[in-house]
Amino acid sequence: MTDQTFRFQVDRIIQESQRVKTFRLQPEGSGLPFHFSPGQHLGVRPAPPGVPDTEHGKWRHFSLSSSPSEGFLEITVLNQGTASDRMHSLAPGDWVEATRPVGDFILEQEVGHGPVFFAGGIGIAPIRSMIRLCLEQEMGEAVSLFASFPTREQAIYREEIRAWADRVPRFSCWLTYTGTETRPDAQDSESHPWNRPFLEERIERPLERDYYLCAPRGLMDIVETLLAAMGVPEDRVRRERW
Ligand SMILES: Cc1cc2nc3c(=O)[nH]c(=O)nc-3n(C[C@H](O)[C@H](O)[C@H](O)COP(=O)(O)OP(=O)(O)OC[C@H]3O[C@@H](n4cnc5c(N)ncnc54)[C@H](O)[C@@H]3O)c2cc1C
Repeated sequence: MTDQTFRFQVDRIIQESQRVKTFRLQPEGSGLPFHFSPGQHLGVRPAPPGVPDTEHGKWRHFSLSSSPSEGFLEITVLNQGTASDRMHSLAPGDWVEATRPVGDFILEQEVGHGPVFFAGGIGIAPIRSMIRLCLEQEMGEAVSLFASFPTREQAIYREEIRAWADRVPRFSCWLTYTGTETRPDAQDSESHPWNRPFLEERIERPLERDYYLCAPRGLMDIVETLLAAMGVPEDRVRRERW
């Protein structure tokens, strides 16, 4: 990472599930030092600038999960290896180094009838940022979210998603739990696997929607195949592969 970097202080840490935390990062000065579009990601190193790279202080990319309208950044991190484990050991008051956000997985301003989001596990991080902006700016006549998690306990942002659904009539969501501990919840969740009839029953005017996918590779392939079978043109599907 040779580009210009910035200092951010860990302000708040939210334990989203057993292995996932959201970190609220405050910029060093007043206001964010850059603009970003929902869906973009930035390099983060869990060490202050000046401290040399170590095995645990490595650069990793994390999607921004907050909305650009907020004066801080949030990233949501699954603990799965060396650098993410180091991130999970950070405490409020610690400093991290971050790059300028990049990436072309971004929300189109012309949203047609409205976006449809597909998220799997930690892939919901950039999708959260996109949905927050859609709801804040009243983009799209309809905004739909399909999110899949192994269990309800691993369904990060579940309360927030439910609150959006209660507050915003044009927002619809289907949370699907595929693990062995499936406990369907009549209000916001189903144990049904995603297949063509399931999607066709729930997506209004599917050919006029824009689709955003961020999920593990296997699930991404399934959704791409289903959308193609439904006749959704390739150029209406945007994907983020990590
Ligand atoms: C554009 C982009 C956006 C991203 N956004 C996010 C995000 O929002 N949130 C998020 O949590 N992550 C995100 N990631 C992933 C993130 O950048 C890291 O790749 C992730 O945190 C793992 O880094 P790590 O150092 O913790 O794991 P690493 O130590 O690099 O390990 C990576 C994987 O390899 C496995 N592994 C490591 N060593 C071994 C070994 N010896 N034998 C077998 N398996 C091994 C680990 O278990 C782990 O699953 C994103 C990646 C990209 C490219």
